[in-house]
Order: sequence, then C-alpha cells, then structure tokens
Amino acid sequence: MRTRILVTGGAGFLGSHLCERLLDGGHEVVCLDNFFTAQRRNIEHLLDNHRFELVRHDVTEPTVIEVDQIYHLACPASPVHYQRNPVRTIRTAVEGTLNMLDMAREVGARILIASTSEVYGDPLEHPQREDYWGHVNPVGPRACYDEGKRCAESLTVSYARQYGVATRIVRIFNTYGPRMHENDGRVVSNFVLQALRGQDITIYGDGEQTRSFCYASDLIEGFMRMMAQDEDPGPVNLGNPAERTIGNLAELAIELTGSSSKLVQKPLPVDDPTRRCPNIDKAKRLLDWQPQVSIEEGLSHTIRYFQALLDETRGDG
Ligand code: NAD
Ligand code: UDP
Repeated sequence: MRTRILVTGGAGFLGSHLCERLLDGGHEVVCLDNFFTAQRRNIEHLLDNHRFELVRHDVTEPTVIEVDQIYHLACPASPVHYQRNPVRTIRTAVEGTLNMLDMAREVGARILIASTSEVYGDPLEHPQREDYWGHVNPVGPRACYDEGKRCAESLTVSYARQYGVATRIVRIFNTYGPRMHENDGRVVSNFVLQALRGQDITIYGDGEQTRSFCYASDLIEGFMRMMAQDEDPGPVNLGNPAERTIGNLAELAIELTGSSSKLVQKPLPVDDPTRRCPNIDKAKRLLDWQPQVSIEEGLSHTIRYFQALLDETRGDG
C-alpha cells in the first residue's frame, strides 16, 4: 500500500538515504528541512520524482502536513554542529519534537523519533542496553544535545501515554557512510578526508576510546522495521556491536585509502565518552535486524564517495 511519509531532516545524511529507500518502496515522501546541516546535493537526484516533495521549514515552528507516518530526524548531530548554537540545539530537540508530536496527534500519524546513544552519556554499563538510564553530565558542552534528546524521549512517551499517539523511539549509535557532511567534524568523515588529502590524521586523546560504527544502509533498514512494528516496543538500540578503538579506525582509514598520512594527537574534548557499544538483543529479537555491512566494506563505499567529491571540487570529475 502506498503511504504518505514525512521525513524531517530529510536532506541530511541519514534523512536523504531514508527518503531514497522510501521512494524505492513506492511511497510518497515529503522531505522537510531547514538546511542547517543539510546539503542540497543529497536530494538533488530525487527532485524530479513526482512522489517526492521538498519543504523548507524549521521544526521549531509548528506546522501540519497530512501524512500517515513521520520519521523525525531533524536535529544537528555532530558535536561541532550541535555545540555551535547550544540553545538552538535544545530548541530543535525539544520544541521541534513537541511540534512533530502535535502534528502526529492531529493527523493521526505514527511517528518514529531519532534518538541517540548519547542518552547513555559516558556510560558506566557496557555494552549499553535499553534499560540502562545513562550517565550524562547535564551542564557539560554535550548537554544541549544529550539532555535535549533525553527530553525528546520523555515527550514522546508522554504523548503516547497521555494522548495515545503511536510512537517509536530508536537510539542510534555512531552511523557513517556517503553523504556525511565533509565539515561536520565526525570521526569517519574527518579520518577519510584527512587520509585522502594526505593530511595528518587527528586523534583526540590517546585513541583508546571506543565507538561502534554502523553503515547507513543497515541503519535505514532498522528504521523501517521499527516503523512497521504494530506495537510500541519502547526504545530500541540500532547500531553495530563491533566495537573498536579510534586509533584502530585511523589505521584502517590509512590502510583502505593507501594513504601516507601520519597520526597526530589532539586534546580530547570535554566529556568525550570513553566507551560506547550497543547491546542489540532487543532489535534482533523484535525486528529480526542486525547489521550486514562490515566496516571494511562500508568504509570503502565512504572513501569512494569522498574521493569523488574531492575530484569534483578539483574539477577532475
Ligand atoms: P545531519 O546533520 O546530516 O542531519 C540532520 C538534518 O536535520 C539536516 O538536514 C539539518 O539541516 C536538519 N535540521 C537541523 N535542525 C533543523 C530544524 N530546526 N528544522 C528542520 N531541519 C533541521 O545528521 P544525521 O547524522 O543525518 O542525523 C539525523 C538524526 O539522527 C539526528 O536527529 C541525529 O541526532 C540522529 N543521530 C544520528 C547519529 C549518526 O551517527 N549519524 C547518531 C545518533 C543519532
Ligand atoms: N575523534 C577523533 N578525531 C577526529 C574526530 C573525532 O579522535 O578528528 C574522536 C572523538 O573524540 C570521539 C570519537 O572520535 O572519541 C567519535 O567522535 P564523533 O564526533 O564522530 O562522534 P561522538 O561519538 O563523539 O558523538
């Protein structure tokens, strides 16, 4: 059945992959974005599709669009971007989610909220399960994002309890792939671009902190399976449980690009989580979902994307 679906933050990294997948599935897609961290080229190839509509709008302003489903992704996601204007980040996470929940309530749409592993903060339990309440500094530089997203989750469960809105919450762990913003400072885009340019690879701290990297297509599959759930299963972690150190990721980026870049150390940002790895038992059990793409394969696709981008900028493409 053809469904009309709203994707907020649809011109961003994950949103654009989601729009594409939903169009491939025969649905009508309304992509809403204020272009804060979006890139027009992410969705340019979709503009001719008669089932695709682009709306420039800021989610902190109320709006109503008649849709059956809402994937609410609009929010800056990288530390560099979400710390640039912390008040705006909180507004987007809290007021933006409130507005989207109001819309879902009014039009009777099912709504999926893109939450984050940051709700676990610098976790004291490892790997992180959904029933862990987290270890977040409420006044640190990451608080605007972490607490904003925690409040977004609270709003979401309250709309479900109080008004019966059909809600779904996914907690996304570090996800990477083509269409990441080249200037957003996230570790995968930084390392790949530095390696391709032959620049020093900037390791923050000693590089022993860990993350678990999920490829974009795997995550989008998880989103869609979660939306398809008939009952709300509560928050579900989506991420790749293959944990690695940041130092190891840097070596892999050098190896896969064949780069001669050197590793250099930079100061570790305040409150940078020491370890992060999802327990995905709940997603496996409920959604029959687990990541399929290895880091080597996913990084190779990402490297090809950024290489093409660099060639284009240089005029070789
Ligand atoms: P992104 O920055 O590429 O996408 C975010 C999109 O939201 C951008 O297109 C931006 O322009 C838009 N946006 C920001 N503020 C807005 C506003 N006020 N109104 C309308 N649009 C607005 O980042 P992404 O990685 O694609 O992240 C998408 C979502 O997934 C975010 O909610 C983020 O918190 C969540 N998430 C992502 C990751 C990850 O590793 N990529 C991890 C955890 C959570
Ligand atoms: N990082 C790094 N070098 C960089 C960018 C990031 O060592 O050029 C580290 C960062 O300190 C963190 C990890 O890589 O420990 C992941 O950072 P990112 O900003 O991608 O996401 P986070 O998980 O911290 O939100």
